[in-house]
Amino acid sequence: MAYRVTLIPGDGTGPEIVTATRRVLEATGVQFEWDIQEAGADVMDQFGTPLPDVVLDSIRANKVALKGPITTPVGTGFRSVNVAIRKALDLFANLRPAWTMQGIPVCHQNVDLVVVRENTEGLYAGIEHDVIPDQAAESIRIITRKGSERIVRFAFDYARDNGRHKVTAVHKANILKATDGLYLKVAREVAQHYPDIEFNDRIVDNMCMQLTQRPGEYDVLVCPNLFGDILSDLCSGLVGGLGVVPGANFGQEIAVFEPVHGSAPKYTGQNKVNPTATILSGVLMLRHLGEMQAAQRVQDAVATVIRQGKSVTYDLKPAREDPTAVGTQEMADAIIQAMT
Ligand code: NAD
Repeated sequence: MAYRVTLIPGDGTGPEIVTATRRVLEATGVQFEWDIQEAGADVMDQFGTPLPDVVLDSIRANKVALKGPITTPVGTGFRSVNVAIRKALDLFANLRPAWTMQGIPVCHQNVDLVVVRENTEGLYAGIEHDVIPDQAAESIRIITRKGSERIVRFAFDYARDNGRHKVTAVHKANILKATDGLYLKVAREVAQHYPDIEFNDRIVDNMCMQLTQRPGEYDVLVCPNLFGDILSDLCSGLVGGLGVVPGANFGQEIAVFEPVHGSAPKYTGQNKVNPTATILSGVLMLRHLGEMQAAQRVQDAVATVIRQGKSVTYDLKPAREDPTAVGTQEMADAIIQAMT
């Protein structure tokens, strides 16, 4: 039986890496029926919105989606389609694992971190307005007991189910006493229900410094929305950059898989960017579907290609201008070859 999956190519470099990922996933032999849906700036003219209802309806019906990145205009223009999908479908948990792979030069070996980011509230609640146009603006940061409890529970359950030993709650409760004070209080309460998992907390600025110096001391990090967004990019930097870090968004019943990185618009149409982050998001999707063997085959093939260092994109070469770097599709070809 084929899995019916909503496939959102996205924009910028999204369609290229999604095509590469689709080819790799299909090469596993697992059957997919792709329900292709377009979202982003390119559909504005046709539908009058960057996120037509038909896209959300498709994800609701299929319960699983694989998504390329979608550009958000900076400062003006429409609100983020990515944030809108997460909020509309109540995909409250964003999972962003980052681990070192042999063949990628890094400062610290054996980094193995998972950032669990709250996805629906915090500063991304989108409640902001001008107080005095062009002079002062205000943004409201929402933290609720319900939102905090379910994300911290998700992090502990993930830790327990995946053989992880420690959860660190990241916050700024020394300054944001009401919002992060509540988040930290709830995190401490939830932690008491998981005596088998170690728990501690870190103030976000200290957390950034600790991660750059001693990443090996950390395991699962659970963060309010903005801190999770920033820390997951920091963790990407620790393991070789945005090109290699996958992501997944989970609600109660629906899951949307997408890389941590954005649409890297300056490379659009150049067959240049690294497809690994999206292919590994596909691995997370295969695991979610229960296709454990296929998931492991793809993950091992990615590791082999990166370890060999030959058929990899520019970002994984020692020098950015290395003429031996291959393109997006050629790296996917090498991964498919390594699976056989
Ligand atoms: P970005 O992640 O698109 O790119 C930043 C830099 O990281 C790139 O210039 C490139 O050097 C590197 N990079 C990113 N992906 C790479 C890959 N696959 N291979 C190799 N190098 C890669 O971040 P940005 O430039 O800040 O954002 C561009 C757009 O993407 C913005 O409109 C932003 O809002 C959007 N965005 C979307 C998502 C999403 O769809 N979930 C996430 C983040 C940003």
